[in-house]
Amino acid sequence: MQDFTYTSAAARVIFGAGSLRHLEREVELLGARRALVLCTPEQTAIAQQVADRLGERAAGVFAGAAMHVPIETARAARAEAARLGADCAVAIGGGSTIGLGKAIALEEPAGRFPILAIPTTYAGSEMTPIYGITEAGVKKTGKDLRVLPRTVIYDAQLTLTLPVGLSMTSGLNALAHSAEGLYARDGNPIMALLAEEGIRALAQALPQVKADPADIAAREQAQYGAWLCGTVLGNVGMALHHKLCHTLGGSFNLPHAETHAVILPHAIAYNAAAVPQAVAALRRALGADDAARALFELNLKLGAPTSLAALGMPAEGIALAADLATQNAYWNPRAIEREAITALLERAHAGLPPA
Ligand code: NAD
Repeated sequence: MQDFTYTSAAARVIFGAGSLRHLEREVELLGARRALVLCTPEQTAIAQQVADRLGERAAGVFAGAAMHVPIETARAARAEAARLGADCAVAIGGGSTIGLGKAIALEEPAGRFPILAIPTTYAGSEMTPIYGITEAGVKKTGKDLRVLPRTVIYDAQLTLTLPVGLSMTSGLNALAHSAEGLYARDGNPIMALLAEEGIRALAQALPQVKADPADIAAREQAQYGAWLCGTVLGNVGMALHHKLCHTLGGSFNLPHAETHAVILPHAIAYNAAAVPQAVAALRRALGADDAARALFELNLKLGAPTSLAALGMPAEGIALAADLATQNAYWNPRAIEREAITALLERAHAGLPPA
């Protein structure tokens, strides 16, 4: 076995349909008295219910969370937290809302402004010390333990309203974290176990959620998978797949989760020969002989996009994307070769199965 370093970040997880009922207890355990409840404008009703449940322990609701955490939103939320004398954030929603909580906590001394996250998508931000803030159109990301939520409540009841399309793409986004986590340079056997189990759980649950979005057992299974995949993202570094998605998203304004769905089968095919152990784990998790092909077929089964063209990327953009993907050096198990990356992008653009 290879030597490795494993650091466990302590988060308390309350799991189970209906577990929102433990909210007051959990805020109290954090030692907080005035929670600022965060949400997007679309989730105001559920956030208000959370605030009502907290009663005097709720300082107020800030319903301004937005995709990619614009700096203006972060500033407004920080000002509101200060004005209300809030001493913790209760973030109910997806990666955008939890990201807003992180943007507030980032400005506070360590431990002063804990986040209690109640995720309602499968993105996994609640399990990572990674934050992102967008200023003048540029998203800056970083890692800081101050932003790692201290408590996470996974209540599958709250995911029943997540539209099927978003459920599929956000679940596939989570799965991508674990797929790359299986061959991370700083990986370790514990994260490999979580990654394989997370992929297995999501690959099993997502088709069931698609067939019946009200299937609470399937929703729980998907959330369990998303938790594990988020943990992997928070603990090990990513490679080609995530860099490509970041480049494509930034350069062509492609939607985040959908881009992940399209690229993952191709990124896995690109790296496969260099990472036999990871491929073996993927095969086991997906119950298939050809892992990349199985991921492509999973996209089809879930009705997720399989082509960059369908997401709005112009064919002329392939050369620029290949340039950008090969310019900035980053670690990947297989060397980043311009010709092979171009071929990968061409197939992904056309919606062809991975080579
Ligand atoms: P999101 O938070 O942007 O939510 C998308 C929309 O779905 C919003 O309008 C939201 O209100 C709505 N929604 C969420 N849950 C719902 C529910 N249960 N029912 C009905 N509507 C619901 O989407 P996301 O995919 O969770 O997050 C994406 C963002 O998170 C991106 O900016 C991404 O970069 C970031 N992210 C960060 C990390 C990290 O570790 N920092 C990890 C994953 C994603």
